[in-house]
Amino acid sequence: MKTHLSLFIAFLILLFTGCEVSPADDPGVAVIIIDGLRPDKLEQAHTPFLDEFQAGGAFTPRARAVMPTITRTNFVTIATGMHADRHAVIGGNYRDKEYNEQRTDRPTYGEAQDHVPVPTIFEILEDHGRRTAMFAMKGYELVGARGASVQKGGSNIYPDEIWRYRYDRAVDGSEEEGLRRKIQMNDILIDTLLSVIENERLDFILINLGATDYIGHVYGPENEAYMEALEATDRHVSRIAGMLKNQYPGREWYYIIGSDHGFTQTNENRVVLPADNNPNRIPELARRNIEHMLYERGGRAAELYLRDSGRYRDAYDRIRDLPWIKRIYTNHDVPGRAGTFDELRVAYPGRHGDFYIITDPSYALNFANSGQHGSDDDTDVYIPLYIHAPGRVEPGSVIGEASNLDIAPTVTRLFIIDDERIVQMEGQSFVD
Ligand SMILES: [Zn+2]
Repeated sequence: MKTHLSLFIAFLILLFTGCEVSPADDPGVAVIIIDGLRPDKLEQAHTPFLDEFQAGGAFTPRARAVMPTITRTNFVTIATGMHADRHAVIGGNYRDKEYNEQRTDRPTYGEAQDHVPVPTIFEILEDHGRRTAMFAMKGYELVGARGASVQKGGSNIYPDEIWRYRYDRAVDGSEEEGLRRKIQMNDILIDTLLSVIENERLDFILINLGATDYIGHVYGPENEAYMEALEATDRHVSRIAGMLKNQYPGREWYYIIGSDHGFTQTNENRVVLPADNNPNRIPELARRNIEHMLYERGGRAAELYLRDSGRYRDAYDRIRDLPWIKRIYTNHDVPGRAGTFDELRVAYPGRHGDFYIITDPSYALNFANSGQHGSDDDTDVYIPLYIHAPGRVEPGSVIGEASNLDIAPTVTRLFIIDDERIVQMEGQSFVD
């Protein structure tokens, strides 16, 4: 009798494991973002781990970042599956309807999270019993992390001697040391991840490897230093995968590796509106007594707010031919505009400005940077995207149209979670 029972149980096990596509029992999902990643530079870099990843999964070098092509906007998009005109994080600073200055990440990230008007993937996954974590390099990426059990990042995880120099080209007169300390920032963030997974079981991880962004700004994407950063980051991704394998023996991990935006080479020798001298005021408008405020969006873009919106035509005529301005988007009806805020998907009521300015890359806005981003030019918009999910994604396959809107729906699909909040997302899962 006993034999029959055990045979029957064995039969049942066979039946359940043998049928269906049998996705991994209890997979984890890690989304690893390489901050400011240019696909053409990635192609040239020596990245053996990512190459292996590509061969074992699906890839596209032409996924899209959303506008503005900046870190904080795209991280909230990754967390919500929505454009900025729905999740409301268009930049760090903005002017409200009364022309009062506001910040999207203050007073604390936690309180700022309460003002994100749409659900986050962390909330959805936690409601379905998954434990989630976000590891942010800059800190303000955490604005989209509402609901995550673990939220780490920003200045409090870095020693001061690292954090203070993150935008400096050289440290103690040495460029090599400047570069080394920026690359070290990735390792410190991964150490933070390790200290968490040594003590608890996580199901979903979003991490921002930001060294490439600091290095891209300071040295420019055309510089050899950016290549070095990409090659170091390849090792960092490999380190994360190794750690997850060791800490959770036998567990399958699915990976999505992408970026928040690309990069454009800019001219650090021609700084417009330098940060140490009234970076938010355009002299041509000040001379006409047009009260205004300019907030940069990654350096390749800026949003211009007028106190008296009625003076939009006068203001537009003063700025439209400035040499550092490449094109202007606005919802005001003016001749020669490149398009509207609505078309860029950056119009959030009560937050957006009068003009969205794309700067000319033969200048650098506010900072003497060799690399900036934030525009809707191809160099800022196109980013690589990998997905590695054995049994769910065909090895060596190509991802079709994809953008950062698609990451949240794809993650929920990898977990096989159904939830009405996923339907509100604008992206589509790129796994079945
Ligand atoms: Zn970024």
